Amino acid sequence: MLVRTRFAPSPTGFLHIGGARTALFCWLYTRRHHGKFILRIEDTDLVRSTPESVQAILDGMAFLGLDYDEGPFYQTQRIERYKQVVQQLLDEGKAYRCYCSKERLEALRECQLAAKEKPRYDQACRNLVEFKNCPYVIRFKNPDKGEVSFKDLVHGELTFKNSELDDLVIARGDGMPTYNFSVVVDDMDMGITHVIRGDGHINNTPRQINIFKALNVKIPVFAHLPEILEEGGKQKLSKRRGAASVMQYRDDGFLPQALLNYLVRLGWSHGDQEIFSADEMIQYFDLKKVHSSPAALNQQKLLWLNQHYLKSLNPEEVAKHLKWHMDDQIIDITSGPDLTEVVKAQAERCKTLKEMAEKSRYFYEDFKAYDEKAAKKFLTPQTLEILQLIYNQLEEVISWKAEKIHEIITKASERLELNLGKIAQPIRVAVTGGTISPPIDVTLELLGREKTLERLHRAIERGL
Ligand code: GLU
Repeated sequence: MLVRTRFAPSPTGFLHIGGARTALFCWLYTRRHHGKFILRIEDTDLVRSTPESVQAILDGMAFLGLDYDEGPFYQTQRIERYKQVVQQLLDEGKAYRCYCSKERLEALRECQLAAKEKPRYDQACRNLVEFKNCPYVIRFKNPDKGEVSFKDLVHGELTFKNSELDDLVIARGDGMPTYNFSVVVDDMDMGITHVIRGDGHINNTPRQINIFKALNVKIPVFAHLPEILEEGGKQKLSKRRGAASVMQYRDDGFLPQALLNYLVRLGWSHGDQEIFSADEMIQYFDLKKVHSSPAALNQQKLLWLNQHYLKSLNPEEVAKHLKWHMDDQIIDITSGPDLTEVVKAQAERCKTLKEMAEKSRYFYEDFKAYDEKAAKKFLTPQTLEILQLIYNQLEEVISWKAEKIHEIITKASERLELNLGKIAQPIRVAVTGGTISPPIDVTLELLGREKTLERLHRAIERGL
């Protein structure tokens, strides 16, 4: 059987972590089984859906590298098709027009609540035969008796009594289909074999299964993914929190590889392995190993993963992402070292790309002021001699390489009978403005001859 999955977000906000995790699990399952992954935009809520949200979803998926084989399909472009299937169910006597007014339904609900009953439609219009010339919705004739069972790949066998399920509205007064109905028509038309989505949809599944049955089509396999909780595991993840958006993670300096690795571990595990390349995830991913209990965000783990990938990925790949942050921080990289070299030098001491960009600004543009404490401590009359000596020696250097610079600094330290750190720190403050940078020889090589000499000179002048 060719596996066909879909990711079906409603474009009412950015792609948040929960949605991205669903998309990832669908994608992994599909790639693992050499199937087709379909993107479907569920935009029938005309008030809340926006083109910006559609774009945010597409951007988020592109950032994570979750490519799809078909789509994006838009539900708003399929309205005629839903109407056709509604008509089919009406013709077959599997759906009916309900003329009940809002007021009647409201009163019914209040009565049921007062009697401590579960509110549900009393099927007043279910057996009407005459056509009334007044507004109506279309309801699905849910079976009255029996049960609906399905084997969820994550939760196991789940059973619901039909008596608990309502005669669901499948088309509103204006003819627009409702969620539970359009999803079934789409999953049917798109030949979806596996519906992988969040836990929040479990209660919709028996309703949808009944509609599948009424349409006489094969029912897909379902897998409902566990909820994601906030850090600490107590609160539900709230979509409104900016930090939960995939693009916010990009803006904060996370690599897509790190984010994917982080997402895959939100509810899935493979032994005690923590680091997974995309290929490994595809190779090992199994819905049966998805946990049924919620997973919680863990920022420390994400930072750890990010640093792991900053250090271990091909530096050229990391440099591409760093470029985005340099642009974002308006750092013009044309007058400075190659970004790949910056990545090699900085990966060890940065947890995010944002931090790496911030900490690499001095390679490209002059810093505005010395870090006050650092200057006080390291740019003193005593260190003037060091800076002057280093300046003189470096001025002679033609081939500007870390090895040569290292040699000069080592010789100076011997001559002045000072340890290397005592020499390096004043130079570092002089050329970067602060006390933190890659090893001093690497820093100077990256900075280049001209900037190094210029900044050393300035520091010397300042101290005279
Ligand atoms: N559009 C639904 C949502 O964003 C998902 C529907 C589904 O996966 O069946 O929650």
